[in-house]
Amino acid sequence: MKRTTGQDRSVTAHWRPATRAVRGGTARTEYGETSEALFLTSGYAYDCAGDAAARFAGEQAGMTYSRLQNPTVEMLEQRIALLEGAEACRATATGMAAMTAALLCQLETGDHVVAGRAAFGSCRWLTDTLLPKFGIATTIVDARDPQAFFDAVRPETKVFFFETPANPTMDIVDLAAVCAIARERGIRTVVDNAFATPALQRPMEWGADIVAYSATKMMDGQGRVLAGAICGTEDFILNTLLPFHRNTGPTLSAFNAWVVLKGLETLDLRIRRQSENALAVGRFLEGRVPRMLHPGLPSHPQHNLAMRQMDACGPIFAFEVADRTQAHALLDGLGLIDISNNIGDSRSLMTHPSSTTHSGVAAEKREEMGVTEGLLRLNVGLEDPADLIEDLGSALAGAGL
Ligand SMILES: *Cc1c(COP(=O)(O)O)cnc(C)c1O
Repeated sequence: MKRTTGQDRSVTAHWRPATRAVRGGTARTEYGETSEALFLTSGYAYDCAGDAAARFAGEQAGMTYSRLQNPTVEMLEQRIALLEGAEACRATATGMAAMTAALLCQLETGDHVVAGRAAFGSCRWLTDTLLPKFGIATTIVDARDPQAFFDAVRPETKVFFFETPANPTMDIVDLAAVCAIARERGIRTVVDNAFATPALQRPMEWGADIVAYSATKMMDGQGRVLAGAICGTEDFILNTLLPFHRNTGPTLSAFNAWVVLKGLETLDLRIRRQSENALAVGRFLEGRVPRMLHPGLPSHPQHNLAMRQMDACGPIFAFEVADRTQAHALLDGLGLIDISNNIGDSRSLMTHPSSTTHSGVAAEKREEMGVTEGLLRLNVGLEDPADLIEDLGSALAGAGL
């Protein structure tokens, strides 16, 4: 495998983001294929026993087993690292595998974690249920307020873990302020950047240490595969994450890596168009529904902060209607927009978080997070926004709004 033109750091570092998204990480076989090769192989053969021994000893470059390395997965890892502006990246089978590995690889009994209250349901399960089982204490804070992180710090605090924008309430975390609090105390920040992706927000530019992804969402972007990624310094990835990752095996399949490589080529185009569409649809809904949670609209209490740290608002927002009955009636009145709990898809999808993605979170915790019974989350796709607005218009009327 030959790295294609300029795949050494001195050159790729000068590539602009659009070039990195299309060409970053590409390595070609002797056939010179233009599209990245798909290596569906679990193992690798050696020319002689001595080569096998040397490779296992780390004395010879090369691959040994696809739980540890795979050429297609490696191309994806290099492309994501380039887009993120990170020294290194490791891909995982799902976003949750990325979050779990990013936390567990660096925590041990007696440590303490401060985590954002508004979060993806399974991320809350990690902080509320899994970590405490191993004697890792967690404090859940309102992450909109940097002071809340400051106040929660203990001598044994090792990690701040949060997402911004947060799923599904669209809370925004002040990356510069919270990362500065962490840095001063030697605490590592783990930022779940699934909603924005590096196309719109690069948390490391604001001081984050580790950025973790569900690549299932905007990076694939077409609702096809599950994938995840963890970005950090070379030291963190090689010395802290890799021993955990290689031995526990949350490895991404080569096929899924190949699909996400193709997704990244159009990420910037898709996310910018979907952000524009989400603004158009948001403007239509504003005033027609009791409450909007849309960071792209000036009515969002953290609009200015969102626009400072993100290049655009992204495709996802939430809004509130009266209660579960009205929320379900609105969903049932949709003709074009699908009732579906995925996000980041090029299709518009709507879900009722309290009865789906967050149904596993206890009712009182849901209310505390802002996941009310009337909350609906909308992922705006690449359809013509006029068609989406027509669909929403008739669904609103049908639900008595
Ligand atoms: C979807 C999602 C995850 C989990 O990702 P999977 O790929 O579904 O495992 C984690 N965090 C956020 C913010 C998400 O939206």
